Amino acid sequence: MANPNRTLVVLGCGTSVGVPMIGCNCAVCSSGNPKNNRTRASVLLQLPAGNILIDSGPELRIQFVREKIPVAHALLYTHYHADHIYGLDDVRLFPTILRGPLPVFCTAEVETVIRQSFQYIFNPETEHLPIGVLPKIYFQRITAEPFDILGERITPIPLTHGRFDVFGFRIGDLAYCTDANAIPESSWPLLAGLDTLILDCLRPGPEHPSHFALAGALDVIDRVRPKRAYLTHLSHQMDASHPPPMPAGVEFAFDGLRIQC
Ligand SMILES: [Zn+2]
Ligand SMILES: [Zn+2]
Ligand SMILES: [Zn+2]
Repeated sequence: MANPNRTLVVLGCGTSVGVPMIGCNCAVCSSGNPKNNRTRASVLLQLPAGNILIDSGPELRIQFVREKIPVAHALLYTHYHADHIYGLDDVRLFPTILRGPLPVFCTAEVETVIRQSFQYIFNPETEHLPIGVLPKIYFQRITAEPFDILGERITPIPLTHGRFDVFGFRIGDLAYCTDANAIPESSWPLLAGLDTLILDCLRPGPEHPSHFALAGALDVIDRVRPKRAYLTHLSHQMDASHPPPMPAGVEFAFDGLRIQC
């Protein structure tokens, strides 16, 4: 059941190149509809004890400023693709407010890629630098077992994303499942009884090797039967001004969407 103290903010609902896409003059990329302006996929869960950021996309700063969110108290990763991690440098302001390093919850695989991609953060020669100069973070290991952040139970939902393994996350009766093209059989029970499902849906069609297209996403929604569903990781082929026919209760997400969960 929706909890009035728990809000999910969609910071970004765009695919890996964003919308508008560089160099594209299509009707969606040149649209005046703000819902066709999509930064890279990320969400923030607002709880009484603080904010959990899920993924740190390249537009993290723009997203926090736009939504007037001053800080995240924890960072949680779905997977390590560039469009989900490359805003990590922007978290360096948070430890000043937190008065300590930012906890980063991820798998061993994600930690390895972050350590490779952001070597300067982990360089012993720069460790003495004051807070705010570099992102001060520490890793908290997650596996497929449920875990708690800021007093909230979070259940990982293993998803298939082409040849990559990704986690969706369930918080109460909301599930955030970005970057997926298939649901493993063992993950379906984790999606039972949802109020809200936020699901990857790149384009109207055809099918894509690592993302759901519309038919596949609607099949998932039909099987899960959440009370409402939002499609995310949307490309410029998804026009918010002229959405394709979709069942009642299914909508495109948009940057700035807030969901009581
Ligand atoms: Zn992505
Ligand atoms: Zn376009
Ligand atoms: Zn991805």
